[in-house]
Amino acid sequence: MVRIAIIGGGPTGASAAIELAKIKNSEVILVERRVFPRDRPGETLHPGIESLLKQLGVYEQIERLNPIRPKGIHTYHRGKENFAFYGGEENPQWQGFQILRRDLDAILLQRARELGTIVLQPQTVRSVIKRNSRVMGVCTDHQEIMCDFVIDGSGGSHWLQRKMKLPVIPLSQTLITHFGYTTENPGVTEQPQFIWNKDNWLWRAEIQPQLYQWTYLPWKSSASNSSYVTRGQKSDVTWRKMHRAAGRGYFAGGDAAFTLDPSSSHGVLKALMSGIMCGYLIQNIALRRIGEDDAIDYYNNWIAAWCETDVGHLQDLYRKMAQWEMCK
Ligand SMILES: Cc1cc2nc3c(=O)[nH]c(=O)nc-3n(C[C@H](O)[C@H](O)[C@H](O)COP(=O)(O)OP(=O)(O)OC[C@H]3O[C@@H](n4cnc5c(N)ncnc54)[C@H](O)[C@@H]3O)c2cc1C
Repeated sequence: MVRIAIIGGGPTGASAAIELAKIKNSEVILVERRVFPRDRPGETLHPGIESLLKQLGVYEQIERLNPIRPKGIHTYHRGKENFAFYGGEENPQWQGFQILRRDLDAILLQRARELGTIVLQPQTVRSVIKRNSRVMGVCTDHQEIMCDFVIDGSGGSHWLQRKMKLPVIPLSQTLITHFGYTTENPGVTEQPQFIWNKDNWLWRAEIQPQLYQWTYLPWKSSASNSSYVTRGQKSDVTWRKMHRAAGRGYFAGGDAAFTLDPSSSHGVLKALMSGIMCGYLIQNIALRRIGEDDAIDYYNNWIAAWCETDVGHLQDLYRKMAQWEMCK
C-alpha cells in the first residue's frame, strides 16, 4: 500500500490526486484549508490546457459551463494596438478559456474525490514529520498523517520549503500585483487586453458575461500611486523558486515549485502539468519502474529547465515592452 499526502486542493494538488488514482493499492489524502467554492485569481487559461482537462476527465464539465473562449490577446504598447492569436496566424482557431477558479478548482477536486481521494477540508497542514532527512508525513490541525510521499501543492506560500527551512530563491526584484473584479465593462471584448507602460502593465479580461477581471503590476515606485493599487487585493508575485522541487519523500508542484508573475500567462497550466508529473513519478516509483532517487533527479531537472526557460521569456518580454531588467 502506498500512502500519499497532498497539501492544497488547487490545480496542482487536485491534478496530482487524479493521476495518483491510477495506483491500485494506494491511499491518497488531500488536505485543503479553505472551504470550496473559494475565489482565486488565475482565470485566463492557456489553450494548451484543453488536452490536460481531457486527460484529467473534467473537460465535459468545463464545456458545460460554456466558458468564453478567447482566440488571442490585444496588446497595447506605445500607443499601438496589436492582436496576436494564441496559435499564431497559421492556427487562429486555437482558443483559451476564461473560467472562474471557484468553478475550475471545485470541479477538479470533486473529480479527485470521485476517484477515491480522501479530502480533508477545511483542515490546515501545520507541521512536517521528518526522519533522517526524509519527509515521512505531515500533521494537520486535527491529525497526524504518516505517508510514503508528500506532494506540496500549497501555492506561492511554499509551505513545505518554509517548514523544512530551505531557502526560497528570489529571481527578480520584489513584485506585488494588485487584482480585482468589476461588472462595469472597461472596453474589453471576448479577447483580453494587455496594456504595457514604462513602469507597469494592466491586464483586463471578461471572465464571464459582464464580469471583468483586472490585474495591475507596477515595478517602479512611480507606478504605485495608481488607483488600481488601492482598489483590489494584492499578491506577492516576485519570481522565485524552491531550492529543490523534490527530495526524499516529497515533490512540490505548481507555484510551490516556482512562482512567476501573471504575465507568464500559464500558471494554471504549469500547476496541472506538474501535478500530473508528481503523480506519475510516484506511481512509477510504486511500480518499481524507476528508483526514487532517479525520479527525484528527473523531476528537479525538469522543473529547473522549465523555470529557466520561463524566466528567459519573461526577461525578454520586459526588455522588449518596458526596457526593464527584472532579474537580479
Ligand atoms: C493576480 C494574479 C493573476 C493570475 N492570473 C493568471 C491567469 O490569468 N492565468 C493563469 O494560468 N495563471 C494566473 N495566475 C497564476 C495562478 O493563479 C497560479 O499559478 C495557480 O493558482 C497555481 O496553482 P497551485 O495549485 O499551484 O496553487 P494555488 O492555486 O495557490 O492553490 C494552493 C492551495 O493550497 C491551499 N493551502 C495552502 N497552504 C495550505 C496548508 N498549509 N494546508 C492546507 N491547504 C493549504 C490553499 O488554500 C490553496 O487552495 C495569476 C496569479 C495572480 C496572483
